[in-house]
Amino acid sequence: MSVIVEIDPGHGLPDPGACGNGLQEHERALVLGRMVGKVLTRHGVTVFFTRTSEKSLSTATNLKQNKNQDLAKRVALSREHGAHFFLSLHMNSSGNPQSNGYETLCYSMNGQIDALHQPIKAFLQKKGIRDRGIKTRGDLAVLKGPKCKAALLECLFISNPKEAALMKDQAFLLEFAEAIAQGVLAAVGVKYVPAKAGTPTPQPKPQPVPIDPTVAAIEKLVRVGIINSPDYWLQNAKPGHKADGQYTAFLLQNMAKAVG
Ligand SMILES: [Zn+2]
Repeated sequence: MSVIVEIDPGHGLPDPGACGNGLQEHERALVLGRMVGKVLTRHGVTVFFTRTSEKSLSTATNLKQNKNQDLAKRVALSREHGAHFFLSLHMNSSGNPQSNGYETLCYSMNGQIDALHQPIKAFLQKKGIRDRGIKTRGDLAVLKGPKCKAALLECLFISNPKEAALMKDQAFLLEFAEAIAQGVLAAVGVKYVPAKAGTPTPQPKPQPVPIDPTVAAIEKLVRVGIINSPDYWLQNAKPGHKADGQYTAFLLQNMAKAVG
């Protein structure tokens, strides 16, 4: 079975994240995340994204509620996908436009986090970007929640005009993504192979995506309108869990309606 990495582009509308110098954090995080994903799939890694649209994973209209649900879903997805590594991508921001540099955040320090940080550190040095180092943070849901090791990368300062310009530069981003992916590969124990210059990137072998039959069934029943609370069933339709009578009654009623 191939290694599974969950890429988590931070934020998502209605929360754009930090904004500055014509950039929005949620948008850059997704662009960079897709690039990192491409390098990982080139190495046979199975990549899942917590979001691929500009929206958050919650539809709640209350912003705080939206944020909490969104973060909980990101963590739940990494668990459902059986991720071996969780990589959250963000940009830093400060009231001081001079603030600059890159940092790796983690829940607790270990060899995997250090392995992730090293190739990125080497890249930053080459580019003359300050390495703010590895910091432990016990308060972040996406670092605490996943079952696997997780890291949150604060990729330069959106509030710094020079660094924002770099984050708009496609060539820089591709190199940055390559360094980040190299770090992730080191963290999950997959050998990094640089892309050969001038040759097209080899297409990754199609990876069979592991699909849980219950998850697939729930998705199908949502599509045909029989299930209206997929989150509830995803959480409870598994061995050792119990489904509430009211939910079961609704399910049976909808099934009866569907068969006429
Ligand atoms: Zn952020």
